[in-house]
Amino acid sequence: MGIAVGIDLGTSNSVVALVRDGTAEVLQDGDGLGVHPSVVAFGYGRSVVIGARAREQLSYAPESTVTSAKRLMGRRYNSEEAERMRRNVAWGIAAGPHGDARVRVQGRVLAVPEVSAHILAHMKSVAEAATGDVVDGAVITVPAYFNDQQRQATRDAARIAGLECLRIINEPTAAALAYGFGQGRRQHVAVYDLGGGTFDISILRLDDDLFEVISTSGDTFLGGDDFDVTIADHLAGILQQETGVDVSENLGARIRLRIAAEAAKRALSDADAVDVRVPSVVKDSGGESVHLSTRVDRNMVRQLVTPLIQRTFVVCDDALSQASLTAAQVDAVLLVGGMTRFPLVREAVAHYFGKRPFAHLNPDEVVALGAAIQANSLTSFTEAAGAVLLDVTPQTLGVRTVGGFVEPLVPRNSPIPTQSSKTFHTAHDNQTEVRISVFQGESRMTTDNELLGEFVLEGLEPAPRGVVRIEVTFAIDADGIVHVTAEDTATRVAQSLRIEASSKLSHEEVEQMRFDELGF
Ligand code: AMP
Repeated sequence: MGIAVGIDLGTSNSVVALVRDGTAEVLQDGDGLGVHPSVVAFGYGRSVVIGARAREQLSYAPESTVTSAKRLMGRRYNSEEAERMRRNVAWGIAAGPHGDARVRVQGRVLAVPEVSAHILAHMKSVAEAATGDVVDGAVITVPAYFNDQQRQATRDAARIAGLECLRIINEPTAAALAYGFGQGRRQHVAVYDLGGGTFDISILRLDDDLFEVISTSGDTFLGGDDFDVTIADHLAGILQQETGVDVSENLGARIRLRIAAEAAKRALSDADAVDVRVPSVVKDSGGESVHLSTRVDRNMVRQLVTPLIQRTFVVCDDALSQASLTAAQVDAVLLVGGMTRFPLVREAVAHYFGKRPFAHLNPDEVVALGAAIQANSLTSFTEAAGAVLLDVTPQTLGVRTVGGFVEPLVPRNSPIPTQSSKTFHTAHDNQTEVRISVFQGESRMTTDNELLGEFVLEGLEPAPRGVVRIEVTFAIDADGIVHVTAEDTATRVAQSLRIEASSKLSHEEVEQMRFDELGF
């Protein structure tokens, strides 16, 4: 039997950690790296490179270098997020057989969990090389705001990579674990998590080793990538002013400016001003290379990114109000995600909460450390090793009613696991099927929410309308994954459900994609 690790499968970076001799530690690769870019570079044939080496390929072969794939996790081809990605990446986005967004690269089409599985397999191999043990289980973290489809897709990725996903836990909950486990703290804690692609805020109550999430909120369209795009647009403006060349329609040039913008953003974490030089951004109409050379400083960047930072506080207001707390009632603020290294973000957070964030945790590592603690709790034989995690569901679960409205069944921020039942009856004489559409999201209208799936109750006894009553139970498990079951209320016979219109991979598809089957 192998060992179980904690994996932070991030949008920009991934980290693997393990509890050894009672202490959680990040495992490093042979180059001493503990934080691995979540980048998958596809070469010819089967060759795939992951991590720092893959990132190097981004500037010269962006069309075969997949970054930020997590943003497409569990998304539909025609979703807003897929549309945004399409404008910003050089590889293709294709429609899968279930309407799911897929990655088209080197003439192949891959499901997003297959791409993420490469990252997970890489983390597994880093852990195996570091420990000399076989790694076969993992606790994997996801943003608290991930819906059912995104969590399912993460589980599928683990399966494809040959890892048993012991538990999916929310990134902020993992961070709180790393902060509070074994410390005997009784506090209200806010976890402010600004990563590459998403923003999450969770408010928890810590009572010794009980970690109770009171509320969570987030914005899946807000992260470091947006800072990069904003700064890159500014650089494009300077380039146009100085050279007259417009790069807005040139994806390659925009990617080069984004790489420079990200580097400048990082450098501005330590310096007040940085020189940005991008050779050969693009060729002008005469075929001459156009270079960019300019200087950006913190004040300039402050003006550019303040609206993005302020958007995080609108989300914090929401989470605090859901928790019935004020910012001043929060005892400790934990920072998670690479973007919280940015001084402008730290200053703004300190100002909002009226206290300095807790500084003794590495924002890149804290989530993986928490996941490792949970993996240790789940696999250790001693009762005392465990923490109790009480999480909530981040989004309202509901069913479609007439007129395209949603009837909520499980409101957001309900403690999980949880379940809720609803009785459906036939509307027509001799009706043998009832179709139930399940949605996740906060809108009253189905069109603005995420369709989780359509379930068809079949094989109903022909009878006058209204006679056959079916109780459908929607359960959300500790991983935040939704399960639906149905029962005929008169006979107590379980009804069969046919799942339609779901973008999930089928069990068979996942099995076919497994790397051990493919010989990776
Ligand atoms: P994560 O998804 O948590 O790995 O966060 C990655 C994001 O953090 C990316 O947008 C990075 O550009 C950003 N980031 C990482 N380190 C720094 C830094 N020192 N200063 C500013 N941003 C950073």
